[in-house]
Amino acid sequence: MRTIRGTVVLPGGAFEASVTFGERITAIAVEREMTSAKVPLILPGFIDTHVHGGGGADTMDGAAGVVALAGFHARHGVTTLLPTTITNPWTNVLAALRGVAEVMTEQAAAGGTAYAGAGVASVVGAHLEGPFINPHRLGAQPPHAVEPTPELVEEAVGTGVVRVVTMAPELEHARAAARTFAARGARVSVGHTNATAAQVAAVAEAVRAAGGTVGFTHLFNAMTQLGSREPGAVGAALADPEAFAELILDLHHVHATTFLAAHAAKPDRLHLITDAIRACGLPEGLSELGGQRVVVRGGAARLEDGTLAGSVLTLDQALRNAVGSGMSVVVASRALSAVPAAYLGLTDRGAIAVGARADLVLMSADLRVLEVIVAGTPVAG
Ligand SMILES: [Zn+2]
Repeated sequence: MRTIRGTVVLPGGAFEASVTFGERITAIAVEREMTSAKVPLILPGFIDTHVHGGGGADTMDGAAGVVALAGFHARHGVTTLLPTTITNPWTNVLAALRGVAEVMTEQAAAGGTAYAGAGVASVVGAHLEGPFINPHRLGAQPPHAVEPTPELVEEAVGTGVVRVVTMAPELEHARAAARTFAARGARVSVGHTNATAAQVAAVAEAVRAAGGTVGFTHLFNAMTQLGSREPGAVGAALADPEAFAELILDLHHVHATTFLAAHAAKPDRLHLITDAIRACGLPEGLSELGGQRVVVRGGAARLEDGTLAGSVLTLDQALRNAVGSGMSVVVASRALSAVPAAYLGLTDRGAIAVGARADLVLMSADLRVLEVIVAGTPVAG
């Protein structure tokens, strides 16, 4: 058991308090409502539902890559994540999903504290980003988009790890595939799409009829935009009170004001992701994404034609960007923890509460990571 004191970010606000925990939080003693920011700031661990890589590793590298990226992002406050695949020949994608399954099996066998002691975030599934996307809206995805045929969908869900699947609603097999994924527990996330709002609504209806949850992949990027007469996928996302949406707040993908507008439309459904790639955390220069050359310069990763290619963002930086845009730490923290937990249906984490996993981020007054705790165990700094 350990007790830490500081300014604790609880669901109802920030309080001067102490938190006692083992693998789970056993007690929270609130002393008073925060008057001056007492350091450390204690936040619930961040949850990243869309992360390709970091620290030189990538989900497509297999199990070792997944462990390495989960270690890298843990040092930036991420205590739970979904390693994310990229559009590639199907055998490569399947192999990557099996790598994620291997890590999940190892983590389950080790139990919470044992794998946390290895300094890595909890892996709760994979985000299958591509290949079920529009070949004309690839963004930086390599050109291996395919239809989500029943055979491929069955192979994907058969790995047992697909927790989020990005899909373009206008594909011929999208509705049937969305039903299958939703029925098997995967969130269906609209993305890399040229769909109209009506096409999005049709797939959303299919997902919900199967008991599923609808999301949007990196809202605003690689999708049809909101216009006065054409609501597009962005309009469909903002108008749907139940749908969740991811957003990359590196200030290259989305303007801070655009982020605030989206947050005003869905304060309890918008969550922040990194979409980070292998190059994240490395010196700027040449890197790789899905077999393509990427150049990192000025904090942005781009293909040689200038297309943004994922990001080099970490979630602690996303928090600083949200607060820098005028949002309070308490509200921004929800977009990093409680909202993605709700999206994924994780009821044991996402907030600092008695009985929840002790996934905590200790930060300085200027929101720099001081210590990260995964299931009660500090990860190596
Ligand atoms: Zn991505």
